[in-house]
Amino acid sequence: MSKKLLLAKAQVPGIRHFDVYRREGGYASVEKALKMKPEDIVEEVKKSGLRGRGGAGFPTGMKWSFIAKPEGVPRHLVVNADESEPGTFKDRYLMEFIPHILIEGMIVSSFALGSNVSYIYIRGEYAWITNILETAIDEAKQNGWLGKNIQGSGYDCEIYVQRGAGAYICGEETALIESLEGKRGNPRIKPPFPAVKGLWERPTVVNNVETIAAVVPIINEGGEAYASIGVGRSTGTKLISACGNINKPGIYEIDMTISVEEFIYSDEYCGGIPNGKRLKACIPGGSSVPILPANLLLTTAKGEKRLMNYESLSDGGFATGSMLGSGGFIVLDEDQCIVKNTYTLARFYRHESCGQCSPCREGTGWMEKILKKIDTGKGEMKDIDLLWDIQRKIEGNTICPLGDAAAWPVAAAIRHFRDEFEWHVLNPELCLTENYGLRHY
Ligand code: NAD
Ligand code: SF4
Repeated sequence: MSKKLLLAKAQVPGIRHFDVYRREGGYASVEKALKMKPEDIVEEVKKSGLRGRGGAGFPTGMKWSFIAKPEGVPRHLVVNADESEPGTFKDRYLMEFIPHILIEGMIVSSFALGSNVSYIYIRGEYAWITNILETAIDEAKQNGWLGKNIQGSGYDCEIYVQRGAGAYICGEETALIESLEGKRGNPRIKPPFPAVKGLWERPTVVNNVETIAAVVPIINEGGEAYASIGVGRSTGTKLISACGNINKPGIYEIDMTISVEEFIYSDEYCGGIPNGKRLKACIPGGSSVPILPANLLLTTAKGEKRLMNYESLSDGGFATGSMLGSGGFIVLDEDQCIVKNTYTLARFYRHESCGQCSPCREGTGWMEKILKKIDTGKGEMKDIDLLWDIQRKIEGNTICPLGDAAAWPVAAAIRHFRDEFEWHVLNPELCLTENYGLRHY
């Protein structure tokens, strides 16, 4: 059984409320951190090996150490709670049921970074969670854990919650910053990175909800203890939101040493595939990462069991691997149609493109149109090559990663399931029938 660090107290009745959370040991990491030097907290996070849990997996301690410290310029911590990646809903769970772990992690992180005013930018659709977070912030403030002179330490910190308005692109950190400043959420060109020039051109660290929550056990137990969990550069625990064709969809905290096979089939996690169906494919890290067919999902190119971690899931690059990404684990059984699935994702990315750069603005539209054509039985063989060509011209040629995120699912679908695209072209009369999967097997 995986060790639980973030969800250990999730089942305690009333854990959402300050009194219960505190009684269960909450805010101990703040007590400890306020007696430490900020640079020692950063060092502890570096030792932990914690990597950003939003999807990119960038080392958190390193990001924190990049924060610029110009004399007299305020710094900010911004928590990215704009969880919009299809298949990803783990931050929602943390914020809804254990909001104080985020507030606690934010106080420690803000102190380490020298931020006196920190923000949570939350996706517009999580309106009810905004209320939960604001209640938690009020409770923390009433009990002396936020505001002026926290617990007599001389450190002041305020936390504000800002709701987005439903745009996926506002989860990209620089678009998020623009939105937080009250502007349209258009991504900025990087560098400069937010750590140097972020919110109102001030040094800013943007971290995902789960990343900041993980700071709590790191400070409580020590960076080395955290690093002893997991394997290689995949240290600590990771929240996975599992959905699709599985018996037990939900949120799981795993210790990144378990195999993908165990995660899908064991009763502790997904509990297998309903009705004895076969596993066809999986998108292991949120919709932006490449889909993998069952054989490559369970076994790496070297013939080893694939593990649920950063290195193993990306083993072989995109030819035979994928990414852990945000931990949005989407399972597809034998009845699912890859063309339909890819078309659905392409529609999403076309809709969410901010339109600033031509390859993304035009390319996502073209991919959607061609995929619709193939999916509805009007495709030609040359459309498959055209689709391949378009995605290649988007990848790496845009301001922000949304372009890549739109291109990769299309590339992986054609790479691994080209026969299925060809089947659609060769069997136009069957394309609009109800049962997508069975027509291929
Ligand atoms: P990125 O690799 O560009 O950056 C990662 C982080 O490291 C950023 O905060 C960046 O500022 C920082 N960084 C990198 N190099 C730096 C340097 N030299 N100096 C200072 N800071 C530096 O990736 P990203 O744009 O933050 O994230 C992309 C990922 O987001 C994708 O892989 C996708 O999986 C994920 N994603 C998640 C969601 C979600 O809902 N959780 C939604 C969309 C995308
Ligand atoms: Fe906007 Fe797409 Fe360019 Fe990102 S890649 S800046 S979403 S047009």
